[in-house]
Amino acid sequence: MTEERYNLFGLNRERLEALCAEADGKPYRAHQIMKWAYHQGCLDFDAMTNLSKTFRGWLAEHAEYALPEVIDTRRSRDGTIKWAVRVAGGSAVETVLIPDRGRNTLCVSSQVGCMLDCTFCSTGKQGFNGNLTTAEIIGQVWIANEELQRRGEAVTNVVFMGMGEPLLNFEPVLDACRILMDDLAFGISKRRVTVSTAGVVPGIYELAKHTDVSLAISLHAPNDELRNTLVPLNRKYPIAELLDACRHYVGGLGERRTLTMEYTLMKGVNDSLEHARQLARLLRDVRCKVNLIPFNPFPASGFSRPDAVTVKRFQTYMMNEGYATMLRATRGDDISAACGQLVGQVADRTRRQARYLARVRAEEVA
Ligand code: SAH
Repeated sequence: MTEERYNLFGLNRERLEALCAEADGKPYRAHQIMKWAYHQGCLDFDAMTNLSKTFRGWLAEHAEYALPEVIDTRRSRDGTIKWAVRVAGGSAVETVLIPDRGRNTLCVSSQVGCMLDCTFCSTGKQGFNGNLTTAEIIGQVWIANEELQRRGEAVTNVVFMGMGEPLLNFEPVLDACRILMDDLAFGISKRRVTVSTAGVVPGIYELAKHTDVSLAISLHAPNDELRNTLVPLNRKYPIAELLDACRHYVGGLGERRTLTMEYTLMKGVNDSLEHARQLARLLRDVRCKVNLIPFNPFPASGFSRPDAVTVKRFQTYMMNEGYATMLRATRGDDISAACGQLVGQVADRTRRQARYLARVRAEEVA
């Protein structure tokens, strides 16, 4: 049995410096290694010629840059690409690249499945099967970048809006953010790295202590009664507490930065003018913009998408109330890559998934 090697994709600059100091006595070797890997795309220690031969040998024996295996690649008519990658334990998660007028946004997963079970999200239906490591998160970005480099482009924005709740996999997600923003690695600006949360309040306070990446909140309802039914986590952290945390977080960002409130519009559920009125009142003293996402269907979801007029009416109301309100275009739904459609594969099926599949089958028979 060989001992386990360090996967350097999982080490932020500080950790890699510590490893180099220990192995070679010189922390700055980390900078050389990172430049080779992230700037030159060279993952072969033997080719890192400004390191001593002895140290290269040590690295070859004890370290590696290991990527998760891609098991499926799907390309949408609209240019969106979805990869399924194998992660520890034999499960697979999905990552989605969304090219849009010069911007290349990558939507990464942070967990296998999700614990939260929001009623309108298909990821929740498969239950929870574990956390991703930092290396598995960074690996997703590397894979997308490889694709883009062929056209002379790179990932410009990363959003933690794939599978899982990033603030419930705190340390690995934070380390991944650090690597994404590090000039010696991906060098993506903090404005273009976005953590999205269903409302893990302690996680928001903790995040504020360590970083100032952009933050998105999956709100979806303007009052607790409704939000309790859509986002069960709301029973633990109700809206008032969530918005306190939001004000705290945004207070730590530069004056001109804002949070994003995500609001998935579901027909007859949260899409009326009265909901818009409540939402506008609720958010009055939170520095934020609003992102409306018309519901993306999946089998046996029990929800549907409002018509275009209803969506427009909601948007117009919010705009007139002074909120920058974007309508998120549906991308990649022909390859089930749209928000809330990511499912991946779990190695050990959970009970929640079994219940869900039974419901889908029952609906097909009916
Ligand atoms: N757990 C995190 C990260 C997931 S982000 C969070 O909740 O923010 C995925 C985004 O897509 C969230 O805003 C989520 O609420 C939204 N979403 C989930 N299912 C959806 C669906 N079927 N249609 C549209 N948006 C959906």
